Amino acid sequence: MGQKVSRIGVLTSGGDSPGMNACIRAVVRTGLFHGLEVFGVLRGYSGMIDDEIQPMDSKSVANIIQRGGTILKTARSKEFRTSEGRTRAYANLQKHGIDGLVIIGGDGSFHGAKTFSNEFNIPCIGVPGTIDKDIAGTDFTIGFDTAVNTAVQAIDKIRDTADAHDRLFIIEVMGRDAGYIALHSGISTGAEHILIPERKTDMEALLISLQEKEKRRKLVNLVVVAEGDDFGGANEVSKIIRERLPNTDIRVAILGHIQRGGSPTCLDRVIASRMGYAAVGSLIEGRHNVMVGIVNNRIHYTPLDNAVKAKQRISEDWMKIFKILAS
Ligand code: ATP
Repeated sequence: MGQKVSRIGVLTSGGDSPGMNACIRAVVRTGLFHGLEVFGVLRGYSGMIDDEIQPMDSKSVANIIQRGGTILKTARSKEFRTSEGRTRAYANLQKHGIDGLVIIGGDGSFHGAKTFSNEFNIPCIGVPGTIDKDIAGTDFTIGFDTAVNTAVQAIDKIRDTADAHDRLFIIEVMGRDAGYIALHSGISTGAEHILIPERKTDMEALLISLQEKEKRRKLVNLVVVAEGDDFGGANEVSKIIRERLPNTDIRVAILGHIQRGGSPTCLDRVIASRMGYAAVGSLIEGRHNVMVGIVNNRIHYTPLDNAVKAKQRISEDWMKIFKILAS
């Protein structure tokens, strides 16, 4: 617990994710409700360094809850990794009298926040905004639900055409080094195989399974691959299947950035609103260096240190359920 705040800044940093706007709205309106002045920092930490900082009022966040992207823009800043960059950023915060920050972003952004807060003793509250869902200390991250639903809608469409032609589709979804989008979208579209970074990909076993299913005339349409799978993405996987099973009719679909955009789902809007509200409450209560998350449907605080280091685990049960249902 630390000092009280009166002027707070909010920024979005790292990769964008649908629902960030709903969170900005919650931070601004909760801050105003409590009599704080609220400032929007444009382009993440770059905007802090370049003094792209503007006052926000209730109207400035009107009509954004349903919009993907982020009205504050987001960026990755090399300069913020340097002591000179962070010193300039702090000088700009001082100029505006900002004495507390809400950072909506991923683990990299929290790492930066922690360093900054330690150097300048300014309270920083992290809010997990990432489609990858790769942050410990929360059951949800803002944007994951929208991204995975976008993937599901796209995969359903691909299944129609795959089925019509008896084709095998290798579909690559986002998630960087986390397999959550692949796991959830694969289970919910009835994919026959899911390849994720959290499990070593056994390509021989996949090839044997495809051959065996071909023999018993089980139509295999969909293999969902996480972009960060240890074997490689959809192109690498399809290459080896083509080499080893030359009679299989294969196509590759890389879903790409459509998974980042679009109107946030109800779930993402609700968690973004709850987390934004709680983040401001945390600053008012004098918390320092924590990430606001939701665990078992309750607001949960995790020291930024732990939010940075730990990754969520995928339990064996999930893989077992998937294997039984896809057999
Ligand atoms: P996403 O999960 O969507 O990629 P992220 O927050 O992890 O989001 P990063 O690019 O890793 O995205 O981090 C965002 C920004 O945070 C970086 O561009 C940099 O400015 C800052 N940052 C990250 N790590 C550090 C660090 N060790 N020290 C200072 N700043 C950092």
